[in-house]
Amino acid sequence: MQFKDIVGQTAIANRLTEIIDQGRVSHAQMFLGDTASGSLALAIAYAQYLSCTNRQHFDNGGQATDNVALRADSCGQCPSCRKFQQLSHPDLHLYFPNAAIEKMKNASNVSSADYQGEFREFLLKHNQTGSVELWYQHLDIEKKQAIIRDSDANDMVRALSLTSYEGNYKMVVIWMAEKMNGTMANKILKTLEEPNPQTLILLVVENSERMLSTIISRTQVVRVPDRKGAARFVGEDFPQLYVTWMRQLFKLNMYTLSQWVDAMHARTREQQKQFLYFAQDALRQCFLRNNAGLPLNMDFGDEKFNLSFPTMITANNIEKLNDAFDQAIFAVERNAYAKMLFMELSFRISKALKKR
Ligand SMILES: [Zn+2]
Repeated sequence: MQFKDIVGQTAIANRLTEIIDQGRVSHAQMFLGDTASGSLALAIAYAQYLSCTNRQHFDNGGQATDNVALRADSCGQCPSCRKFQQLSHPDLHLYFPNAAIEKMKNASNVSSADYQGEFREFLLKHNQTGSVELWYQHLDIEKKQAIIRDSDANDMVRALSLTSYEGNYKMVVIWMAEKMNGTMANKILKTLEEPNPQTLILLVVENSERMLSTIISRTQVVRVPDRKGAARFVGEDFPQLYVTWMRQLFKLNMYTLSQWVDAMHARTREQQKQFLYFAQDALRQCFLRNNAGLPLNMDFGDEKFNLSFPTMITANNIEKLNDAFDQAIFAVERNAYAKMLFMELSFRISKALKKR
C-alpha cells in the first residue's frame, strides 16, 4: 500500500513519513480509527515506507487524493515494495480476529496463520479498508467467536525470535487489536516492555476502550480521523455552539468561557466526542477555504463568522490545532474529566489562533 492510494488521509500520511525520515520511529504505535477510514491501510503503508529502499520525496507535493500535497511516499517498485504490494513480505506478520470454520479438523489450534491467504485476498479486494463485519462474512464465521488467541501469541513469539529475512525490521501488524485475548495481550505487553530495536509493533484499533491501558501507554497513538465527507452525526446546535466557543477564545472571557465549558460538561460523552469531531472538521475546512480557496462545506449560521473565521486558520496553526483535537478526542474516549478537558483544549486553541 502506498500513501498516495489512501483516500483523504494525506495530512496524516505526511506526519508518518516525516517521523520515519527524521529517524523517530517508535517501536510500538497504535493506529486508532475505523478501518474504513484507512487505519489499517496507513499502518501497512507506514511499514512499506519504512522498508522501501528507494523512498520518494516530492518537492512540490506528490499525487494525492485530497487537497493536501503529499510530501513523500514509498516507491512501489523496489523488491521490498513489490512484496508489500502483494502482502507477502517475509518480515511482515499479520494478525487479525479469527475462529475455526466448520471444515477444520484441528479447531482448537486455529490462528491467523491458517487464514493468511484468505486475509490477503480480503485486503486486496477491499483495498485494505474492508470492515471487520465484511471479514467475518468473507470467512463465513460468527462474529462473537472471532478473537486473536493463544495460538496467535505463540506464532508471534516465534516470528519475532527469528532474524529478519531482509536484515531490517521485523514488523507485526495486529488488526482489530481490541480482539486480542488475555494471553495475546500479555505477550504484546511483554514485547512492549522489553523492546527490541529491530521490532516494530503496529496495533490497529477501532475501539480503544477495549484495550488495556498498560498497552496504550506504551504505544505512540496515531489517531486516524474519519475521512472527509464521511457521514457523521452533527447535532442541531453544533454550529452555534462552535461559533460561541470560538468567539470566546478570541476574547478569552473567563466567565462566559467557563459557562460554555459547564454546558459541554453536562452533555453525554458521546455528544462531547461528536462535537469535537465536528469542531475539528470545521477547522480543517476553514484551513482549506483559507489556503486553497475551496468552498466551505458547512454553514456556521452566521454570515460574519463564515467570512472572517477561516482567515484565522493557516499553515502556522492548523497542525497544532489538529493535534489538540486529536488528543482531546482520545481523552474523551478514555473517560477524562470533561470540564478540565474542554478548558485545557480552549487554552490550546486560543494560543494557536493567536499564532496564525
Ligand atoms: Zn520501494
